[in-house]
Parts: sequence; structure tokens; C-alpha cells
Amino acid sequence: MSRFYSYRNAALIPYTPGEQPKVLNVTKLNTNECPFPPSEKALAFAAAHTRPLNLYPELQCIDVRSKLAELHGIDADNIVLGNGSDELLNFAFLAFCDDRRGVAFPNISYGFYPVYADLNHVPALEIPLREDFSVAPEDYFGLGRTIFLANPNAPTGMALTPAQIETILKANPDDVVVVDEAYVDFGGESCIPLIKSYDNLLVIQTFSKSRSMAGARLGFAAGDKELIRDLNTIKFSINPYNINSMTLALGLGVLEDEETTRSNCRTIMENRAYTVAELEKLGFTVLPSCANFVFAASGKIGGQELYLRLKERGVLIRHFDKPGISAYNRITIGTREQMDILLKNIREILEGTV
Ligand code: PMP
Repeated sequence: MSRFYSYRNAALIPYTPGEQPKVLNVTKLNTNECPFPPSEKALAFAAAHTRPLNLYPELQCIDVRSKLAELHGIDADNIVLGNGSDELLNFAFLAFCDDRRGVAFPNISYGFYPVYADLNHVPALEIPLREDFSVAPEDYFGLGRTIFLANPNAPTGMALTPAQIETILKANPDDVVVVDEAYVDFGGESCIPLIKSYDNLLVIQTFSKSRSMAGARLGFAAGDKELIRDLNTIKFSINPYNINSMTLALGLGVLEDEETTRSNCRTIMENRAYTVAELEKLGFTVLPSCANFVFAASGKIGGQELYLRLKERGVLIRHFDKPGISAYNRITIGTREQMDILLKNIREILEGTV
């Protein structure tokens, strides 16, 4: 820390992203990206529609917002875009949390929530998951705090139904409930239709997982127009041009090709079923996943050791050295070929161990 660093963030421990190797000669199953690049159709659209780069981006991002609105049966004014959903999560902390209105989220969930709470000096209540790693809706009733829920949750992959989320919304009419749906396209059910009935619901989605755009950074938040206005106040106070013109054009191109997105998601879900079955044959406990990853523990080898042994062999998965989940690893679901490389290496490692 330099002698110039603000005392306000002296104790801040930043988020630790998964490894992003410069050279891609690895089987990369550690940060839940889509294994498929944007389609040729989407890329061609982006090339033809990118606003000249000597000009600032279009401020309102109206084309992407309108297309998303059409897709979800809501208005463009119900939507704001972010530079990845991470940025929108931070905007939500800035808009809906403070020293008087704290935040609550599960103790095992997306690692950025506690970081944003600390960064914004918001008191945080971490609510333990149940024994089976589920989120119990009643644990979130009447807390008097803004609530952040990843649904499906990460790193477990387990999801609540919109009806269960609705019980949380009803029990907290005076607090915002942020539902982070980064992984919803892989078998979960979106809460976006509920924004018409609940003015305290904010749903956040990303183009990083199902829409193949992790490197382009695009996310969106959907909610009541008043909530979106608040987020725009924050956005226009930080970086009005938060989405660059190339990303806007590619985002629109990807939305023009929903068929590819849906077909990629179906493939990932098939590969997930295959991977779960193979891991279970190898003695793994695998949590029921609605996401493009699985959370799995071997009875034969520790989570950290498996992670390190796979890394030596050029296969990256994610290990969280955290009480309660250190036996587990989070494994992104990639192509069938990638999953076969993973499974072959796990088999070899286990044969050497047992
Ligand atoms: N929410 C959850 C639960 C995530 O796992 C991630 C990905 N790390 C994000 C949000 C952020 O994704 P992005 O900023 O790429 O949209």
C-alpha cells in the first residue's frame, strides 16, 4: 500500500478472479465461459454495425435495450446495460445499500458480493446455506436489508424457483431483492416476468456465459423503471460510456441470433448430464446443477489436491479454499471433447492415488 492510499479502503481485500492464462494451450474449465465463440452471423452483424470508433458510443444503448425488452416482454425503460454484470452489481450496491441499509447474501455464493459490500462500506450479513447447500427462502424474510441472491447460486449451481423468490419479495416489500441470473439460461427459470408485479425486484443477467461474450463485457439489469432510473443516476455519475461501441454491436448481433444461443445452451446441458454421470461413476458427489458448471467432491482425493494435479496436466478447474466447501471443485461445462480430457485426467489421477 502506498502512503497515498485512502484509509477508507485500507482493509479492502479484492476479488480473486479465476486464472486467465495468456496462452490458451490448456483445457480451461475454471471461469464458466461459453466454450463456443460468437456465431459467424453475430460477428458479421457486429462488423457491419459498429459505430465509428472515433465517436463516443451511443449513450442510451437503445438498440440492445429494445431488443432485450422485446425478448423479455418488457419496456426498454425497464433495462440498463453494464460493463459485465459485475459493474451492475456494484451499481446496485451504490444505489440500494449504505451504512443504514445493509446487505444480506448467502455465506457460500458469488465472491464479489462481500468485496462490493466492503468497497462500499455496507454492513453485510452472510446467511449460511442449509446442510444440503440449498438457499432457504425463509432465511431471507423481513431482514430489513437489501438482498443479493445468485440464482442459480454459484458455486453450487443449485436454483430456487421464481415462486420461491416471490416469497422473499413479498416478505421484504421495502427492500430491494437483487436476483443475479448469470447462469439462468442453463436450466433455471428467470424472474424477469416478476418485475411487473414487484417494484423491489432487480434481475441481473450477463452475456458472458450463455451468449459467448465474456471478453466483450456486457450485462443488463431489469426492474421497475424507478429502480432503473436510480441505476442510471449511478451509471451517469461514474461512466456514462460504460459499454463500448464494439460490444454494443456484437451484443445486438448475438441477440439477432438467439437460435445459436439456445442451441449452445442445449449442448452445454447435454454435456453437463454426461459429465455428472461420469463423475458419479468415479465416486464423486455432484450437487444438482442448473448452471454451466458442476460442483463436485471426490471421496478419494481432496479438492485442492485434485485442482493442483489437474493443473499440472493442463486442465484448469476452480477450487475455493473455504470452510464447508474445500472438498469440492467447481468445473465449467465445456465441449464434449473438453469434458473427455477432464475425465481422462481425473481417471488417471485417481488410479495413481487409490
Ligand atoms: N454473477 C455471478 C454469480 C458470476 O459467477 C459472475 C461471473 N464471474 C458474474 C456475476 C459476473 O459476470 P460478468 O461480469 O462477466 O457479467
